[in-house]
Amino acid sequence: MADGNKVVKVGSPERPLRVAIIGSGPSGFYAAEALLNAKDLAVQVDMFDRLPTPYGLVRGGVAPDHQKIKNVTMVYEKIAARPAFRFFGNVMLGRDIQVDDLRRHYDHIVYAVGNESDRRLKVPGEDLKGSHSATAFVGWYNGHPDWRKEDFDLSQESAAVIGIGNVAIDVTRILAEDVEVLAKTDMARHAVEALRGSRVKTVWLLGRRGPVQAAFSPAELKELCELHSSDLVVREDELKLDEVSRAALEKDPEAKKNYDLLVQQAKKGEGSRPRKICLRFCVSPTELIEGNGRVAKMKLEINQLVADGKGGLKAQGTGQTEVIDAGLVFRSVGYHGVPIPGVPFDAKAGHIPNKDGRVLDDKAAVVAGAYVVGWAKRGPSGLIGTNRADSVLTVKAMLEDVAKLSAPVEESKTPEAALATVKARQPDFVTFQDWKLLETLELSRGKQSGKIREKFTTVAEMLEAIKKARQEACLVK
Ligand code: NAP
Repeated sequence: MADGNKVVKVGSPERPLRVAIIGSGPSGFYAAEALLNAKDLAVQVDMFDRLPTPYGLVRGGVAPDHQKIKNVTMVYEKIAARPAFRFFGNVMLGRDIQVDDLRRHYDHIVYAVGNESDRRLKVPGEDLKGSHSATAFVGWYNGHPDWRKEDFDLSQESAAVIGIGNVAIDVTRILAEDVEVLAKTDMARHAVEALRGSRVKTVWLLGRRGPVQAAFSPAELKELCELHSSDLVVREDELKLDEVSRAALEKDPEAKKNYDLLVQQAKKGEGSRPRKICLRFCVSPTELIEGNGRVAKMKLEINQLVADGKGGLKAQGTGQTEVIDAGLVFRSVGYHGVPIPGVPFDAKAGHIPNKDGRVLDDKAAVVAGAYVVGWAKRGPSGLIGTNRADSVLTVKAMLEDVAKLSAPVEESKTPEAALATVKARQPDFVTFQDWKLLETLELSRGKQSGKIREKFTTVAEMLEAIKKARQEACLVK
């Protein structure tokens, strides 16, 4: 029985630091790892996810033909196996549990919620049928339950992807790659079937600035140059560099690698493969044009690069325009966070306001016990590994704060009390052991159909499968 009057140091064996991590993507797992590895700290970590499945963008974002990247989940599994770690899947903050519940059961809350929405173009015609976000397409082909019901009209011959970051490259590659290559991966079955019927012949890939300012990485560009069924077509005239870009190229080895690849590719001309990826630089969509009740064409304005006042270059329209066919459009111009009830949110920046990972309220004052990591902290940038160092920094702030923290030994701040609340609010919560049962089923379904994995793509299906698997394994939650 806990003694309610005795005040002890939080983080001591008598009164472990209790942490709730909201979100089970890379940044959440790296925060858990840093906490569990902290010296001289007794800590209990509960990780929550609104989906029954863990791993965030590693499962729902990383492209199906990039399986090696997904091996990082082996590290996360080891973290999840630590005795002081628990996973509560299918428990959504703001729906099943509230911030006040978390405050009752935990000393610290870490928001690792990523950026679940996307930026908009703000041009006429953006909401026409056939115009989509890359987020929706990526979620759809990766079998994310939120995007299961999306419908992409792949009977169109010409598609356009706006933006030239790595997400745009992923979307372009999935549209342009030989579907039989993708069919062996963990791509969702509905996406493989739809892509088998695709009539897309041309994919426009549209950058508003020049080749040196492109956000894609050389490895991703190289893959686009080496697809089985598509040629990457680059215009030599769009590779001419101004002085500032030329100087930037010398200082940036990644940009130099990109540029050299683009020069080589431009020399190859149109090629002979059945599909074409037409990469364009210094063009901005100014209007999506309707035809037969859906997007049919896109008006592009040619840009010039001008000083942005910060030593870089920005795109400025020249007034000169052209029109391309585009029956299917994907905007891939960056992600944007979504607010959670009871959690501060900077609507303009699209993330949780913070200083060094400590959450700030609307008066820029620190919210005691609230922290943030990953894209929810710094916006949608960086690769998976970037999140490790970022989460370590937030945990550093948490450890500084906990060093000053003493509290009574309270019954509400125990694993049992937290579990009782979860059980009461969401009886269908999913443990990590449940997830492993589901994963075994996904892998065996994949094996049967010659794929790496056949994902379950609705929450109802997942819960049903877990229930059956539990019964078969005689497991009680
Ligand atoms: P990103 O790297 O920030 O790229 C966004 C792109 O959109 C840029 O080309 C940007 O151009 C353009 N853009 C922004 N606003 C625009 C507008 N209004 N009109 C036209 N273009 C506009 O974002 P992302 O591609 O979503 O990727 C997010 C992060 O995930 C990145 O760090 C990325 O490297 C990472 N990621 C990595 C991989 C991988 O490693 N394979 C795969 C996917 C994602 P400006 O530069 O001119 O702003």
